[in-house]
Amino acid sequence: MPSLWINGAWTAPVRGGRRRIQNPATLAIVDEVADASAEDVARACAAAAAAQTHWRRVPALERARLLHEAALTMRGDRARLSELLTLEGGKPRIENLDEVEWCAACFDYYAEIARHSHGNSIPPTAEHQINFTIKEPLGVVGAIVPFNYPLLLLVWKIAPALAAGNTVVIKPSELTPLATLRLAERALAHLPPGAVNVVTGGAEAGAALVDDPRVACIAFTGSTAVGTEIAVKAARQLKRVNLELGGIDPLIVFEDADLDVAVPGAAWARFLNNGQVCTSAKRIFVVEPIAREFIDRFVAHAKTLKVGDPMDPDTDLGPMISERARARVEDQVKRALSQGARLLYGGTRLDAGPGWFYAPTVLTDVRPEHAVVCEEVFGPIASIQVVRDADEAIARAAQSEYGLGANIYTRNLTYALRAMQEIKAGTFWINDPLTDNDAAPFGGMRKSGMGRELGEEGLDAFRETKHVHLDFIPERKPFWFPYRQRRDEVAAVAAHDVRA
Ligand code: NAD
Repeated sequence: MPSLWINGAWTAPVRGGRRRIQNPATLAIVDEVADASAEDVARACAAAAAAQTHWRRVPALERARLLHEAALTMRGDRARLSELLTLEGGKPRIENLDEVEWCAACFDYYAEIARHSHGNSIPPTAEHQINFTIKEPLGVVGAIVPFNYPLLLLVWKIAPALAAGNTVVIKPSELTPLATLRLAERALAHLPPGAVNVVTGGAEAGAALVDDPRVACIAFTGSTAVGTEIAVKAARQLKRVNLELGGIDPLIVFEDADLDVAVPGAAWARFLNNGQVCTSAKRIFVVEPIAREFIDRFVAHAKTLKVGDPMDPDTDLGPMISERARARVEDQVKRALSQGARLLYGGTRLDAGPGWFYAPTVLTDVRPEHAVVCEEVFGPIASIQVVRDADEAIARAAQSEYGLGANIYTRNLTYALRAMQEIKAGTFWINDPLTDNDAAPFGGMRKSGMGRELGEEGLDAFRETKHVHLDFIPERKPFWFPYRQRRDEVAAVAAHDVRA
């Protein structure tokens, strides 16, 4: 029964509230966690603020050593961490084993780049001067995380934040806090007490973290609705925000695509983690000449997917995260069908276990105004739109209020670069959907958010730049008071003006 993790120790919540964590596949209760109140969040922020005065001074080499040690411990704890991720979130175990490895790799990456990414020296404007910038931590960072990749999306925030000398208060999703608590207690225990704190709970705990004046920056991943609310509140305190929000990403299959690759690629990009991925291919466009073949093969592929127990190594898709999430997707499909969409496969709940299973579903004849296209569908629903040609595909894919990612399948350079130019997206994937790179920035445009995670930009999200100006021969400057010593300059300019 984990409590809150504050200042390097388990701490009971002030008010004693608890939340049950349910396995979405079996509906069994996996564990209970504390339901943090605003007082608990305040205690965590105080611990983080106190720890920051020390952590910001730890030399970069020592900080890097500690972050590498955290990565090593994470890898050693991969079996239990991936098991917890599967029990609380329902993703197949293999995906969670990958998730833990990606987290460790991200810690290793930031341990290293924080050592050499330190600022600039700048050419001075006068003699015997030196100008340079240094990078400083912001202070306490609040990390608020969704349910779908509980550790990965957390590590994209805390690895750079810690590497830059910040301390953190983490608010995991109320649905998936268990692996995060385990990570804090084991892998992150190498860090000084108070550097990493975890407050479990729901919207109330998240809101308290946003409001706490000791928190200098909120790094948030989640829905556009909650992200907007956070941005408004943070603005009142001029607090920094990094917002990774929703997406309705397009995937275009052009007529020259190799369907042996594009069909399984598109299916993976849509059905991975039951479509509960911010960058899922939520709008699939296929051009007319290959549409029939693509759709037939896509449906045939969807039929091969094994839905069931996520602990079973043969399972491709586990349950959805909650009954509420499943009911929402069900409603979106129902509305699409009533608006004229055609169901080619699925469209029903599945009896693959006691939990919240839903069949991988394929719809076609969908139009831009249908619910399944203009709303974010966070479930295993592939919506395929047949378009006349490349021009129409690019134009329709570009029509969106969101701008997270975009995918295309083609070997035609002109199609690829035209689509890349026309479609607003933080990441543009050509022939290899949804692949991330710790060294490359990730984030969204428009309603998909602001700011970037990963890469050097992901480190800068948690740093201030300070310009240092140094004159190594102190001398009285001719432009200081008294100004009468510059009287001739004024007179010369005035005389020039009269002549002109
Ligand atoms: P959510 O917005 O419901 O919740 C995210 C987190 O915010 C949770 O920890 C929740 O407790 C907390 N929260 C809720 N209300 C809050 C409030 N008022 N103040 C502060 N915190 C609050 O999202 P979710 O359902 O967990 O995740 C799904 C959403 O996340 C989808 O829209 C998906 O596209 C998005 N997402 C985006 C990315 C990305 O990188 N852009 C990645 C993954 C998921």
